[in-house]
Amino acid sequence: MAYVKHWADNEKINKTEKAKLEKDGLRILDDIPHYAKNGFDSIPKEQWDLFKWAGLYLQRPKEDGYFMMRVNVPSGILTKPQVETLAGIARDYGRGVFDITTRQAIQFHWLEIEQIPDIFNRLEAVGLSSAGACGDITRTIVGNPIAGLDPDELFDTTAIVKEVYDFFQKNEDFSNLPRKYKMSISANTKNASNAEINCVSFTPATKTIDGVTKSGFHLKVGGGLSSRPFLAETIDVFVEPERTLEVAIAVTTIFRDFGYREKRHLARLKFLIADWGPEKFKEKLLEYTGPLPSKGDEPKEEWNAGYFYGIHDQKQEGLKFLGFNVPVGRLDSEEVFELARISGKYGNGEIRTCNSQNLIIPNILAENVETLLKAPIFERISINPNSFLGHAVSCTGIEYCNLALVETKERMRLIAEELDQRISLDVPIRTHMVGCPNSCGQRQIADIGLQGMKMRNEQKEMIEAYEIYVGGTLNKGGKFNEKLKGKVAAEELTDVLEELLIYFRDQKTKGESFFDF
Ligand code: SF4
Repeated sequence: MAYVKHWADNEKINKTEKAKLEKDGLRILDDIPHYAKNGFDSIPKEQWDLFKWAGLYLQRPKEDGYFMMRVNVPSGILTKPQVETLAGIARDYGRGVFDITTRQAIQFHWLEIEQIPDIFNRLEAVGLSSAGACGDITRTIVGNPIAGLDPDELFDTTAIVKEVYDFFQKNEDFSNLPRKYKMSISANTKNASNAEINCVSFTPATKTIDGVTKSGFHLKVGGGLSSRPFLAETIDVFVEPERTLEVAIAVTTIFRDFGYREKRHLARLKFLIADWGPEKFKEKLLEYTGPLPSKGDEPKEEWNAGYFYGIHDQKQEGLKFLGFNVPVGRLDSEEVFELARISGKYGNGEIRTCNSQNLIIPNILAENVETLLKAPIFERISINPNSFLGHAVSCTGIEYCNLALVETKERMRLIAEELDQRISLDVPIRTHMVGCPNSCGQRQIADIGLQGMKMRNEQKEMIEAYEIYVGGTLNKGGKFNEKLKGKVAAEELTDVLEELLIYFRDQKTKGESFFDF
């Protein structure tokens, strides 16, 4: 039975809300075959926004009719047929561009409406989908990229992520949320899923109940970045793994039914949590779930920010997983085919994606590691990258994104490569570049965050520039980075960063990070 859209009578709801009441975002999936047949000009402008629910954004400039597509990759786990299918889409339709996002998803560019039905068919054939990858809906679920392999994970979350993802995928009871809604589910003890910056996160925990110690989750809600960032609050409950879906449904129902729909910039779950506080939220949650045990204990390990470079033991004896750097998350489709081939030859064909925009090849027999690493592709996609390049993250930026103010990906890569030539430090510096305050590149949690903007130079011309932020982390409860004074013209950015890093290096104690500094 359909739920009651009680906000329909509220005259103050914003115009996006009014449009969503007239037509659910997921219904765009029914229209796409028609538009594909009749071409881009047949799509009414007022329908453009709805394409987000199909995982499609118009790239800049919108009038040219090229789409960006985001494909969900729950927990970052891809099988060989899935990797090959994605590589084929990038090669055949996306001019070879294959981007890994900061939420483990894959993005294509340059797609045309006529190509979308075939792309959907290819994705569906291997169990992938772009539906719900964008829009006011549950997005892809971030998880432990080494789930099932991780010797330290409290338990394997693969099946739980799948169950929750499958429930919300194309579910019209939850496709009209007040805003985007991001979930993470992970039992990685080093917080590889960046729990605190998601709307809702299930994080590893243990609890002794009736003398028996169980592994399960703690629940965090109300995290999110953009221009008003919040770290998620912990709710005083313990969630047994078999109740994850039930709790996820309850949290999402609360957001759907109580989240704000009047001002769009206040519609994320984080604003509801900021107003209610964790206790009121818990009370409401228990109305839906019935009693839940109170919190237990959680691991206190250092945050790994989704980095897994090098060769690691799996929980399965004799098998290794290898963590590789993908500079600023961008691969060429031919590289992706090659990675699938190598993973198929030496492993089981799987590839895993990380929040750090990097990748993992799992299930490699220890004796094959050396031979595998001799493949020429691993000169660029390295297990041991230079420090700045290996810790550089970037959003899409002005190349494709309509909201961007500046270039990001290529600039971030060039700056990182240059810094690697000029300076070395005893700690890695995670540098994140974003092209606007929306912060898809998660600049708030970086050691150095670079946020693009425009400014006037001395000749009064508008130029690309950046604000610099330092000291972000999700260690020790988390802290967003803080802005340094002023703005830096794009062309001076490398020199200014070098100066900043030299000052940091000369003043810091051994092992000290920007957060401790
Ligand atoms: Fe676009 Fe801004 Fe997101 Fe970068 S942060 S991809 S510029 S919306």
